[in-house]
Amino acid sequence: MHHPEDDPSYKGLSVQKGIEQPPIVNPYRKAKVKKRAYTVDEYVEGILKGDRVLLSQAVTLVESARADHQEMAQAIIEKCLPYTGHSIRLGITGVPGAGKSSSIEAFGMHLIGTGKKLAVLAIDPSSERSKGSILGDKTRMEQLAVQPDAFIRPSPSAGSLGGVARKTRETIVLCEAAGFDTIFVETVGVGQSETAVHSMVDFFLLIQITGGGDELQGIKRGIMEMADGIVINKADGDNIPKAQVTQTQYRNALHLFPLSESGWKPPVLTYSAKTGDGVAAVMDMVYEYMAFTKQNNFFNHKRALQARYWMYESINEQLRNHFYHNKHIQALLEKKEAQVLNDEISSFAAAQALLDDYFKR
Ligand code: GDP
Repeated sequence: MHHPEDDPSYKGLSVQKGIEQPPIVNPYRKAKVKKRAYTVDEYVEGILKGDRVLLSQAVTLVESARADHQEMAQAIIEKCLPYTGHSIRLGITGVPGAGKSSSIEAFGMHLIGTGKKLAVLAIDPSSERSKGSILGDKTRMEQLAVQPDAFIRPSPSAGSLGGVARKTRETIVLCEAAGFDTIFVETVGVGQSETAVHSMVDFFLLIQITGGGDELQGIKRGIMEMADGIVINKADGDNIPKAQVTQTQYRNALHLFPLSESGWKPPVLTYSAKTGDGVAAVMDMVYEYMAFTKQNNFFNHKRALQARYWMYESINEQLRNHFYHNKHIQALLEKKEAQVLNDEISSFAAAQALLDDYFKR
């Protein structure tokens, strides 16, 4: 059986050979005690008191595909909503290896040191829990994971991006109601997930590192345009001069971009998650942005637009689910799909036939 410890890159604690416990073979051992079912009000009360166990269980309901769980989750969210909205929401992206988890640990420990309560969430639509998705492996944030003021939750397991993003957004609501005043949402810097994260955070932080040759190559313009701040990690030791060159390149590149709607000019900073140099300045930048956008009212404007976006996203997701979960449609889909593949019917005609059938029901 594969075990993470067998991986050569595994850095966590490992069990020494020969001292593992033998498996439990007692046939009389009771099956796992079933969790007590809580009522919606008990969940809400627990969350508002900052009870992490109930918060975790409520997030599990949010993530569940079961209709009764969803119904309960929605009721809990509805009751938590009046207590939310007061946190700082920070999106963090960067290619694998840029140092996202090291940085979240460094930023997080800094913030907790200043009295903040931090929830760390993730969006990784490609992940499956078993594959050690981002945040799935808690050993990646060893210090943060044991802090009473930090709550770390891995990405909801694989699903459509819209579904995964919706669940994360709802989890933000629950975390805020539980008293977390700072929310990090991590995502891998590849694909569409940045857009989803961007649509639920106040500040979008892009983590970059120095590389060989043209630093700006391979970075999608769209991601740079979304960034409210670009930070160059691993500015330590021999790498400091290179990091500064990269910083200048990004500053120059950003000059070519039109001024953002917020009026904020995205700063480019260097830091090291390893030594902690520059970490405080990165967090100060985020607070400066908050003050700036609250003063010019962009902050509220952006949150309002995000709320509207999520209304439409929820509608889209539910319509899609309702359609695809319809037993009759599922059978018809199979038939029509085969016909399209065999070139017996056009894709448009097939889609039309399916939709006509759906709306007749
Ligand atoms: P992620 O894939 O973006 O989450 O990146 P990780 O946080 O796992 O970091 C990738 C690698 O870069 C690891 O080997 C880290 O030890 C290393 N790393 C992260 N931050 C720094 C830093 O500030 N300085 C140095 N020298 N290495 C770092």
